[in-house]
Amino acid sequence: MGKHLNEQGLCVYSGFWWKLALPHLALPVHLVVSLGALAWAASRPKGWIAIAVSVPLGFLIWTLFEYALHRWLLHHKRYPLLRRVFWNGLHREHHMYRQMMDPDHRTVHLAISLPIVLMLVGSVGLATVSGWGLAILGGWLLSYCIYETLHWLYHICDPERGLGKFLWVHGVGHAHTVHHFHHAGKNYGFTTIFWDRVFGTYLPIEQTRAREGYGLREGQPAAAGRDEQSRYQLEKEA
Ligand SMILES: [Zn+2]
Ligand SMILES: [Zn+2]
Repeated sequence: MGKHLNEQGLCVYSGFWWKLALPHLALPVHLVVSLGALAWAASRPKGWIAIAVSVPLGFLIWTLFEYALHRWLLHHKRYPLLRRVFWNGLHREHHMYRQMMDPDHRTVHLAISLPIVLMLVGSVGLATVSGWGLAILGGWLLSYCIYETLHWLYHICDPERGLGKFLWVHGVGHAHTVHHFHHAGKNYGFTTIFWDRVFGTYLPIEQTRAREGYGLREGQPAAAGRDEQSRYQLEKEA
């Protein structure tokens, strides 16, 4: 039980502790906390006005936050301590051993994310008297739920069918595929490619070498050499 390596040296999870990182368990918990923050904001004077203005603002702040966290911390290579905590500890595994289709996809573990968001909501709620701070935070937390949902869908949906087709054609699913399998130094956004365009890290899938055979269909292994290519890109990044 727990986390162990299989014969290919890849991590396999089992047991209740690791279930706390499954999206269908972690996401409802965070949704409740987000709505709780917004309800708290609504209970304050002019709270609904604050919510109407601040939730989109919270989303905008989130998109920049996810870009900055992903680019400058989760992919950090320069300082050993930061590299050990963020790249080695939190992100490398997601890049190294999974093919794009990953029915075992995990969110940030609740033991990490829940104390942080509860502390944030509690601190902002107690330190402010208006609803604005809580409303911005509620919007930011809702956006976190959107990010986790989209990232989950990128790793469980077939890009050529149903919801997957919609996400890949109209969303940033292709961009995330490029990040995984073509160039780990591009396309850091999960919910939007806006900041990648702003900071010059956007790489459209059309400019990558091969589009065929993502290995995303059920029962289909990753395209030959794609994982190797991903590893190569990561080593190049390092
Ligand atoms: Zn991913
Ligand atoms: Zn990454």
